[in-house]
Amino acid sequence: MSAAAVDIADLRVALEKTPILHGVDLTVAAGEWVTVIGPNGAGKSTLLRAISGLTPYTGAIRLAGTELGALSRRRRAQLVATVAQSPVVPPGMQVLDYVLLGRTPYIPMLGSESATDVAAAHAVLDRLDLAGFAGRPLATLSGGERQRVFLARALAQEPTVLLLDEPTSALDIGHQQDVLELVDELRRRDGLTVVATMHDLSIAGEYADRLVLLAEGLVAADGPPGSVLTEQLLATHYRARVRVLPGEHGPLVVPVRVAGPPPG
Ligand code: ADP
Ligand code: MG
Repeated sequence: MSAAAVDIADLRVALEKTPILHGVDLTVAAGEWVTVIGPNGAGKSTLLRAISGLTPYTGAIRLAGTELGALSRRRRAQLVATVAQSPVVPPGMQVLDYVLLGRTPYIPMLGSESATDVAAAHAVLDRLDLAGFAGRPLATLSGGERQRVFLARALAQEPTVLLLDEPTSALDIGHQQDVLELVDELRRRDGLTVVATMHDLSIAGEYADRLVLLAEGLVAADGPPGSVLTEQLLATHYRARVRVLPGEHGPLVVPVRVAGPPPG
């Protein structure tokens, strides 16, 4: 049996001396799509940052069987690409140059990008319907267009694991579906492993094989969407009042008001 794409055991992270993750266990098989849900502040972004090697931690994080700390930065960047929740954009940078940043782990030290790297960047722009934006400064794009450029940079990295931190929050409902379908297609075609976070619970359940509910730095539930998206668990961990209805591709979570407005 080959090693899991991501294997996390007893992961603990503290930020500014405050413990944020208190012993998280999570295994993601190669080619699997796992979405981490959970209320604001649960530690979802911290978890993804730890997997991408950006945060000191204790416990184990293994990528395809190798402990994160044993990988060079370059090798790590060839394995894992991240679309952060609010990526920092170098001012004035054009779309093509930004997407080319994704090729950094393939460019030799002190070298510059090859024709292959430029072709790879253009190919990704084409796939994301961004070909016409190549020469545009990133700052002039709409929020949704910029979000797709962030994804393009991550895909240009040709990772085996794609980490997506709320990749669809800035997108309208149609572009949300386009982006998630594209990610799913890449997963099926190239065997990409996806670990995402998402706030829309119905959409989370439609695309993921498994949902992990993170609450206060611990895994509160882990399983197929139907076992995690329950009225009980969402009430307990989000303090949310919802109805869960059966849907075609997973449960549909509908927020409901407890009491109606006062009469009169
Ligand atoms: P989520 O993505 O689930 O909303 P985060 O992982 O961003 O949650 O944050 C988890 C907790 O860690 C929050 O309480 C947040 O305030 C805290 N936190 C995030 N970054 C820092 C930091 N740099 N220093 C101290 N606390 C932080
Ligand atoms: Mg977050």
